[in-house]
Amino acid sequence: MTDPKKNKQLTKMSWIPIVRYRLIKFRATPYDSSLKGYFSSRDEKEFNRNCIKSKQRMAKIQNYKCPICNKSITDFTERLEVQEKVPVIYGGTRKYNNLQLVHRYCNKQYYKIFPLKGELPTKQQKQKGYKIIRQLRLAEIL
Ligand SMILES: [Zn+2]
Repeated sequence: MTDPKKNKQLTKMSWIPIVRYRLIKFRATPYDSSLKGYFSSRDEKEFNRNCIKSKQRMAKIQNYKCPICNKSITDFTERLEVQEKVPVIYGGTRKYNNLQLVHRYCNKQYYKIFPLKGELPTKQQKQKGYKIIRQLRLAEIL
């Protein structure tokens, strides 16, 4: 039904696709370290169901982990941002081999340490910066 005056439409229930969620195995708990793989594969499937193709592709390339803090990017309580490995102003491209998904927090901290001025950080400098960010995350419990 469409309202002729406001041109708004009611959503028909039949337009909403049915999504069946897989139940967690009997007695499976995320606190059991032997089931880590089981839960991470569930999270990856959930991530792929809710993300656009480009994000799915980037996530798969980086093994569903934030390259800065090395934690999973499948947790939806944390927002993700696309970061250029080599920023465009330094001649980087917007192609998949130059893009990575990082947590918003990690991205923010990264650009605090390495602002887009002066020279590009070396691999060693980046590793040191990542270490600082990981410690910050631990300190702020994020
Ligand atoms: Zn991160």
